[in-house]
Amino acid sequence: MPFTPIHLGAGLALKAVGGRRFSLIGFGLTQIAVDIEPLLGLIHGWDVLHGRSHSLLGATVIAAAVTPLTRALGPPSLRVADRWLAAHGLAGWCEPPDIGWTAAAAGCLLGAWSHALMDAVMHADLQLLWPWSSAQPFYGIASTTDIEIVSAAAALAGIAVWIARALRRGRSA
Ligand SMILES: [Zn+2]
Repeated sequence: MPFTPIHLGAGLALKAVGGRRFSLIGFGLTQIAVDIEPLLGLIHGWDVLHGRSHSLLGATVIAAAVTPLTRALGPPSLRVADRWLAAHGLAGWCEPPDIGWTAAAAGCLLGAWSHALMDAVMHADLQLLWPWSSAQPFYGIASTTDIEIVSAAAALAGIAVWIARALRRGRSA
């Protein structure tokens, strides 16, 4: 199923670790971009849903395309969010609206690779190492439930760090 939130757990945890050096917007946009292929496959009844976009090579190409998009769409989105937060007395939650190339690329690349790796465990039609190999070294090594639990734990940890930082900034503002 394309566009599941299961992939966002890793993004929230990475944001907690990377802070301003990691764009969560880039990570999120990449999740959508990578899953356009399976969405089209479901609509058109393709045999392979997780094709080129879910190989490491294809995911890297998608990340490279989404990185400038993140730089274009991220700052205006953050400015709108920051205005809303400030107007509601939540200035401590505001994020600086500038997204550097490094942060955008980190968010997109880690988003694309984590997405492909996670899906490689769950989907039998996915060839992670295309075009060099059709091997499926990760398929079936964990259940979907295991992945959902780890993803939810990562999301909760990331959100906890995010809240702690916002509360600290709010106190010092
Ligand atoms: Zn996918």
